[in-house]
Amino acid sequence: MLKTLSSKIIFTFVVVIIVIVVLLLISFNYIVVEQFKLQLAEELKTEINLIELSLNDIDNNKLNEHFSSIKNLSDQLNYNIILLDKNNNSIFKYYSDTTKINQDYSIEFFRKTGKYIIETRKYNNDEKSFLVVTKFVDIKLPEHPNLVLGSITIETGLEGIEKFSNNVRFKIIVAAIVLFVAGLLIIRYFSNRVTSPINKIIETLKEYSKTGVPQLIETEGSQEFKFLIISINNLMRKIETDMNELKKLERYRSEFLGNVSHELRTPIFSIQSYLETLIDGGINDPEINIKYLKKAYENLERLNRLLSDLIDISQIESKQMRMSFRFLSINELIQKVIDDLKILSEQKEIQIVFEKDENLKELVWGDRERLYQVFYNLIENSIRHNPPQTLVRVYYNKFDSTLRIFVEDNGIGIPEEDLPRIFERFYRVNKERSRESGGTGLGLSIVKHIVEAHESKIFVESKIGEGTKFYFDLKIA
Ligand code: ADP
Repeated sequence: MLKTLSSKIIFTFVVVIIVIVVLLLISFNYIVVEQFKLQLAEELKTEINLIELSLNDIDNNKLNEHFSSIKNLSDQLNYNIILLDKNNNSIFKYYSDTTKINQDYSIEFFRKTGKYIIETRKYNNDEKSFLVVTKFVDIKLPEHPNLVLGSITIETGLEGIEKFSNNVRFKIIVAAIVLFVAGLLIIRYFSNRVTSPINKIIETLKEYSKTGVPQLIETEGSQEFKFLIISINNLMRKIETDMNELKKLERYRSEFLGNVSHELRTPIFSIQSYLETLIDGGINDPEINIKYLKKAYENLERLNRLLSDLIDISQIESKQMRMSFRFLSINELIQKVIDDLKILSEQKEIQIVFEKDENLKELVWGDRERLYQVFYNLIENSIRHNPPQTLVRVYYNKFDSTLRIFVEDNGIGIPEEDLPRIFERFYRVNKERSRESGGTGLGLSIVKHIVEAHESKIFVESKIGEGTKFYFDLKIA
């Protein structure tokens, strides 16, 4: 019971309304009705005192006359007036209010002269009540030496105030019912407004935990709920992004695995066929034996290159590639790469021009072995992918704290649509030509990672038939 927020709000409202109505009724009774009675009692006391005073200095033979004036007073003010002797025997009774006729009236209270008794009485189980004020007196009445007046009582019906108070009570209750119903509707409306966004949030989270699919919630409700919903939505979006990222990674991984197996299978398959032919007798054929052994050897070299590139990639991916940064001479490094590629470039009749600045005193900050790999890959690409008699230029521009290094050729160029993808693993513009030229399709991907590990970025510009330009920045001392 009372588990939901709206039932708690409604329950609180009902309790509050009931308490308010009860307090109103009680305070009305005390403040208005009781005050009225007190005031009326004071008036009755005054009348009693007036009667007492007049009886005290009454002349002889005037008693009856006096009683008739008391009757007049009783009629005028609608009072019942009763005078009793010390033994509670009636000396004078006059009822202006006939509802009370035949009532035996005696005062049983502890009597003490001058004392007042004020009480509210009901007769005949009647609805109507009376306010009764009695004063105990001690007056010898002149004409009747044995008659001693013991008490004067005036009583008057309270129907006026009772009618009024019933009326007011009725109005309070009617107002309370109207207020209650209106309040209940308003509270229901507001509690719905408050709980509807909460319910939506709960529903969405339930749905999410059931399906695992992130859901967005419509922003509604008060500012606090809007903030809450916006935060939950942001969280959902983040989960969705992470999930997509994970899916992408998974796709990447399986694609990579597929690529790797494919890349490995080709050279292994070739080696196997060459060796099979040799075993089946080819070894004795001087026309093919050396040629096939060479082919098998080339494929083994390719396998070797592929494996060492794969090791590099896996080290980069698992962030285990060890780098040792130091200041090094860029002139020396690039010259070494060009020297090591001399045989290949001469074979393809491609000229490599290194426009070095002999006055460059500054050393660049980097990992010698890895930067060697970068330049080797870039220059080797310019040789391998381009036709003979083309040119490779390596040059740099010095800025304040960086050296921008360019590797440029005037070869075949890369189609614009392939440019954004050439740094991806195994991406080749022309698959067959790349393989034939001994490429693994991993070179530029490794280059990109190494350059990024130097807190830099590699750029490429290329035009079909005009050539390709790679460049990146290195920090200088
Ligand atoms: P590969 O082992 O095939 O060279 P890379 O990752 O080094 O793999 O290069 C990706 C592709 O980019 C190459 O297959 C080639 O098509 C293209 N490419 C790279 N450098 C050049 C260049 N200098 N001129 C023309 N194409 C290039």
